[in-house]
Amino acid sequence: MLRRALQLGLCRGFVARRFGTRRGGSTLDWDGKVSEIKKKIQSILPGGAWDPLYDTSHLPPEHADVVIVGGGVLGLSVAYWLKRLEKKQGAIRVLVVERDHTYSQASTGLSVGGIRQQFSMPENIQLSLFSANFLRNINEYLGIVDDPPLDLQFNPSGYLLLASEEGAAIMECNVKVQRQEGAKVCLMSPEQLRNKFPWINTEGVALASYGMEDEGWFDPWCLLQGLRRKIQSMGVLFCQGEVTRFISSSSHVEDMSGEEVTLKRIYEVHVKMDHSLEYQPVECALVINAAGAWSGQIAELAGIGKGPPGTLQGTKLPVEPRKRYVYLWHCPQGPGLETPLVADTSGAYFRREGLGNNYLGGRSPTEEEEPDPGNLEVDHDFFQEKVWPHLAQRVPAFETLKVQRAWAGYYDYNTFDQNGVVGPHPLVVNMYFATGFSGHGLQQAPGVGRAVAEMVLEGSFQTINLSPFLFSRFYLGEKVQESNVI
Ligand SMILES: Cc1cc2nc3c(=O)[nH]c(=O)nc-3n(C[C@H](O)[C@H](O)[C@H](O)COP(=O)(O)OP(=O)(O)OC[C@H]3O[C@@H](n4cnc5c(N)ncnc54)[C@H](O)[C@@H]3O)c2cc1C
Repeated sequence: MLRRALQLGLCRGFVARRFGTRRGGSTLDWDGKVSEIKKKIQSILPGGAWDPLYDTSHLPPEHADVVIVGGGVLGLSVAYWLKRLEKKQGAIRVLVVERDHTYSQASTGLSVGGIRQQFSMPENIQLSLFSANFLRNINEYLGIVDDPPLDLQFNPSGYLLLASEEGAAIMECNVKVQRQEGAKVCLMSPEQLRNKFPWINTEGVALASYGMEDEGWFDPWCLLQGLRRKIQSMGVLFCQGEVTRFISSSSHVEDMSGEEVTLKRIYEVHVKMDHSLEYQPVECALVINAAGAWSGQIAELAGIGKGPPGTLQGTKLPVEPRKRYVYLWHCPQGPGLETPLVADTSGAYFRREGLGNNYLGGRSPTEEEEPDPGNLEVDHDFFQEKVWPHLAQRVPAFETLKVQRAWAGYYDYNTFDQNGVVGPHPLVVNMYFATGFSGHGLQQAPGVGRAVAEMVLEGSFQTINLSPFLFSRFYLGEKVQESNVI
């Protein structure tokens, strides 16, 4: 006690000398004097002497262990799983850099919120099965004590996939795989289809598959905000700014055939702040490329694809923005509350939206029809000419529909095989991908975030083996074939 008191006394004496006050006096005297001095200084200096002259709270930190580029559902999911799986609480400093906190062009908020188990690849099925469990128990994962629980507005309606004579055998094979993986999916003949959904015209349909569990749609915005709220509570840092540059170091090694290979490691990320010409450098150990439709550009910034064609160095990340329209229509004579998400043989799809005789849907354009992705304007003629005829053919009641509104969003489109890209780049060794999921990234985000975090923390996939989704397949020319792409 005595020692502590002496220490305090000495300390106070030191401060007193610095401020030129008399040593000694009671504690109350002393405290009063210090606050008087503080007030004096505050009145002299602009902004208050004890506050910083310039508010820096919007700036990114000078260093982070992991910088995640993109604060959409995939970036946030990676951040969540990194914090959840870290060995010691607070061990990893994670920074999410998002250039637009309104998410005006981000795919996540513009998607139609669907989740299905009806894929052909076991990995995609496993990812969506995990996601269904995650969404079902959302408050166990993302709940925060004393905060209101999340309500994802989940609509448990199955997907109904229709196959022509040509596609029937593939559909049968796919359903076999889905069942092997644990998904509850049934096959239906045209007659069974007519009995269950009498509003469907089964002309040209040879077989249908229908998901009986873990399929439907939910509010993507709610999932995004839930993830954001949760990871903030876990200590993840956020910064509004645009990643514009990476600074890397290089080293040269020999590969197995004795050829020299240059490995790069990013050690600094430049973040351009909103309304500013300046950038902030952030030192980092690892970068996650979760920039969605723009992740191809982020890869380019890191030098990926900038080598001679045909080499690993010259292999680009084949992800680009592709514009997709969603139309919302009203149709009082429509199929009603029992409407599943129907994917037609023509490629057109639709589902119920809410309870007021509204429906939404669209169709992916063919390569020749691909619209200019330069803006998000909607082409209404596309609906009239390329979507509505198919809808009205399949559901005669849709002859009378009236389009009420429409929007466009970007698929994070993988031009190589329309599947996700997960895990590290072989040459830019500390850039990891969580991107390229084209039309199914929302539903797979929970599982993909976990897989990337496992790769970062453990060096390998632990729960679902996503090796088929590694970057190296682009160089090796090994497409992963998913036949159920919507
Ligand atoms: C019309 C439509 C319907 C869809 N329907 C479904 C569906 O039913 N089910 C499903 O599972 N999926 C669906 N998808 C796909 C799904 O929306 C996407 O796969 C998923 O949202 C991708 O998430 P993300 O986080 O990678 O991308 P985003 O949500 O786009 O997030 C990427 C973020 O990166 C930011 N960013 C980009 N560059 C930079 C930079 N340089 N610096 C800082 N930030 C940057 C962007 O601002 C953006 O916010 C649909 C997509 C569309 C367009």
